[in-house]
Amino acid sequence: MKTSIFGADQDKYFMGKALIEARKAYAKDEVPIGAVIVGPEGTIVARAYNRVESAHTQCAHAEVQAIQKAGKKRGDWRLDGHWLYVTLEPCTMCMGLIFLSRLSGVVYGADSPLFGYRLDKVGTSRVYKKDALVVIKGVGVQESAKLLKHFFQGKRKKGEWYESGFTKN
Ligand SMILES: [Zn+2]
Repeated sequence: MKTSIFGADQDKYFMGKALIEARKAYAKDEVPIGAVIVGPEGTIVARAYNRVESAHTQCAHAEVQAIQKAGKKRGDWRLDGHWLYVTLEPCTMCMGLIFLSRLSGVVYGADSPLFGYRLDKVGTSRVYKKDALVVIKGVGVQESAKLLKHFFQGKRKKGEWYESGFTKN
């Protein structure tokens, strides 16, 4: 199986940390999506979870906030060598930001058939970079999908909200 530069065990570990963020979103009645950014040295430099409802904006996706925090911490928007771990396949907006921010790789859990960038079908962009962005999917997919499923089942039970559309499961 394809891994990041940090290896399979670390990929699972970092996704576990992203899942902790996703659970924080769940506890705040937000769609449970979490993200962490890992620097080239192999340590976490930023953590964030989805806050779209409380912030009243789609700009509050977990990935966007994590990238903002990482840039602040590094004192540089150029995140070459950094890897993003996110529990759900990023959307088009987030993928745009990932490319522009020069991240080296993305590791994600569950596919998002409605909102996902369809990373496995679309060729990766080469904005700024000589090397294509490395994309790895399916790490922590069961946990990620389960969390989303529970969240939307709860919403439907309460008569709140819509079709989930986030996962096939
Ligand atoms: Zn997004």
